[in-house]
Amino acid sequence: MKKKQTRLLVIMIVTFLFQACSLVPLTGRRQLSLVSDADMLSMSYGQYDQFLKENRMSFNSADTNEVKRVGRNIQNAVATYFARNNMSKELNGFAWEFNLVENKEANAWCMPGGKVMVYSGILPLAQNETGLAVVMGHEIAHAVAKHSNERMSQALVSQLGGQMLAQALKQKPQQTQQIWMALFGVGVQLGAVLPYNRLQEGEADRLGLIFMAMAGYNPKAAIAFWLRMSQKAGTQPPEFLSTHPSDKKRLAKITAAMPEAMKYYKK
Ligand SMILES: [Zn+2]
Repeated sequence: MKKKQTRLLVIMIVTFLFQACSLVPLTGRRQLSLVSDADMLSMSYGQYDQFLKENRMSFNSADTNEVKRVGRNIQNAVATYFARNNMSKELNGFAWEFNLVENKEANAWCMPGGKVMVYSGILPLAQNETGLAVVMGHEIAHAVAKHSNERMSQALVSQLGGQMLAQALKQKPQQTQQIWMALFGVGVQLGAVLPYNRLQEGEADRLGLIFMAMAGYNPKAAIAFWLRMSQKAGTQPPEFLSTHPSDKKRLAKITAAMPEAMKYYKK
């Protein structure tokens, strides 16, 4: 009898997890998605506003305008492509925002819903608008592919498991909020959103190339950018490099993804 109950429970959990999956746009990868978009976005927007209050945004209007311009170009290109392909609902609730924080760290991140933060320290590495599009395209790809929801979901499953999980999701947001803070809160205070896993990094590279190409930026600039990053891997590696290791494997994958991205690039 006990065995039968356990089996039933396992089947229920597997069914539940299967239903709680979604597909990543363009790559079609199935990902775990347990937290609602509404919950993800409200946590993200709260945290982003807090960051804006606690940090000084850049006074350099040329640099700030460049960040906002690149961001808007990519946003518009993604929105247009998604609308043409009946995928606009993937971007529901997005409240895009692009800012440049005065901070010597070479870093950038994007929170759920398109809340992008570029650190002034990364501009010399980006070198120009196209280099900046490499960074921002990659970060925007994490948000469009909803990698944060996936990470939250994986953390929920591994920390809570079966029945507890169902409970936690019913009684959210307290439990989910705690995991959010563990994943993002500390990271943002230290100046970086905690690292994504390798699979997500690879996916963000691939989608990032496509998104920058759609926005009219030559994706081939990504190879030079990541080479510049890897050359900085000495004694004081940039913050961005610690969460985005630029090794031979990464460069090889980016090179392999280039023909696909070039199809979206029209000059
Ligand atoms: Zn990344």
